Amino acid sequence: MGGCPTTPWGIQMKNQMKENKGMVNRIEPIKHYLVASDFDQTLSFNDSGFVLSEMLGINGFHEKVTGLSKVNLVQQGAELTYLLRHDPEFRGVRREHLVEAGKRVRLKKHVELFARMLDEGIAEARFSFFVISASPREVVESALEGIVPAENIIGTDFDYDPKTGEICAVKRVAAGYGKVAVLQELETKLQITPDHTIYIGDGSSDMTVMQHVNSIDGHTIAVSEVKNVGRIAQRTVLSDNAPSVLVPVLEDVFGWDSAQIRELFATYGLVLQSWDKIRTDWVSFHETSTAPDEAPMAFSLHD
Ligand SMILES: [Mg+2]
Repeated sequence: MGGCPTTPWGIQMKNQMKENKGMVNRIEPIKHYLVASDFDQTLSFNDSGFVLSEMLGINGFHEKVTGLSKVNLVQQGAELTYLLRHDPEFRGVRREHLVEAGKRVRLKKHVELFARMLDEGIAEARFSFFVISASPREVVESALEGIVPAENIIGTDFDYDPKTGEICAVKRVAAGYGKVAVLQELETKLQITPDHTIYIGDGSSDMTVMQHVNSIDGHTIAVSEVKNVGRIAQRTVLSDNAPSVLVPVLEDVFGWDSAQIRELFATYGLVLQSWDKIRTDWVSFHETSTAPDEAPMAFSLHD
């Protein structure tokens, strides 16, 4: 004996299934997105290392970082970690200095509101917001205290000597490929498919992770005009307001128009005052000694 059940119970089941199917078609399920953001110069205006150096009266931080970058000794963004561990001038740094530096970091406007908007989500999506930074965890946690829960902050982790309080080991660096590793762990933990990952960063420590996010069909947003990051990121937003990065997210990921976007910001008390879309061309010329009428000037044009 085979075939479809013809009992009243069977018919009831089939009708129930039809009803359920109809419901699935009618109600779009809420999607879950991972929003991961860099910290230095993405949620803040200055590099943590610069703030720490200034606080401790250590000169030449910028030169030290440039020197390290030139020789490619450490992954981009991990320069402060190297200095804290190996530079004699940074030997005196203790945990409390990192916490104090965090309090001195100048955050972009409305970081708290940005975190709240993500926490509350939108009709079609909910967001899990994480900060992934190459800066010491203590600095970022202190700077974002009361705004982002500590468990949602992944920074560079140190071991401290229990007797002297000195930094004695680097446990994990969230720079370069380290950010990719963190992102993959979060995707697995939160059961988020990689194409539902949105990464926001300003430059140096974000290149590798942005290339990774692009390769898995995720979304990348740059918040600076640093040449290389602008080329890699799908969109660039320049603003001193942290929630500004939601503009390309709402446009590209959810297909919202400008009226919908303005309305959402208005419900949070923010009026979008200016919104200019400018495509940036990076142009450089190489001057030759040849006179213009003898040969054309060599030039390069990047977009
Ligand atoms: Mg940064």
